[in-house]
Amino acid sequence: MECDVCGRVMWRWPMLPGLWEEEIWSCSWCHAATHVGGEWFEVARPMYLPVGMRWERAVADGLPDNVSHAFGIFDTTLCGIQEAGMSPSKYWWLPERENACGACRQAAGVIDDRWPQAMRGENARVSVARRP
Ligand SMILES: [Zn+2]
Ligand SMILES: [Zn+2]
Repeated sequence: MECDVCGRVMWRWPMLPGLWEEEIWSCSWCHAATHVGGEWFEVARPMYLPVGMRWERAVADGLPDNVSHAFGIFDTTLCGIQEAGMSPSKYWWLPERENACGACRQAAGVIDDRWPQAMRGENARVSVARRP
């Protein structure tokens, strides 16, 4: 699938068993996500979010508690640390926090810059609702 934000190739997340067959695709360049299938949408494209609202804190056995890393992609933090079984927590990763990982902060800034201004509007990305 092609990323509607930057035009690059998206990759598909491993399927999680769930009630709804939903595919999640992520862009490795701008990290835009696209959901295919699901309860309400045939195609859902979440809108742009600023850095402080875009990332969840990464949780894994091998990660120290005193540094906060952002959950990037499958099993990997935004700064590139890979740990099997890594998952996003229910908390935002906050870049301005003192304990936020500097490399994650830098990566988040780079990714943010990859979003064209025109794609940051509320309706810039198009979702397709499921028909009743
Ligand atoms: Zn993209
Ligand atoms: Zn990090």
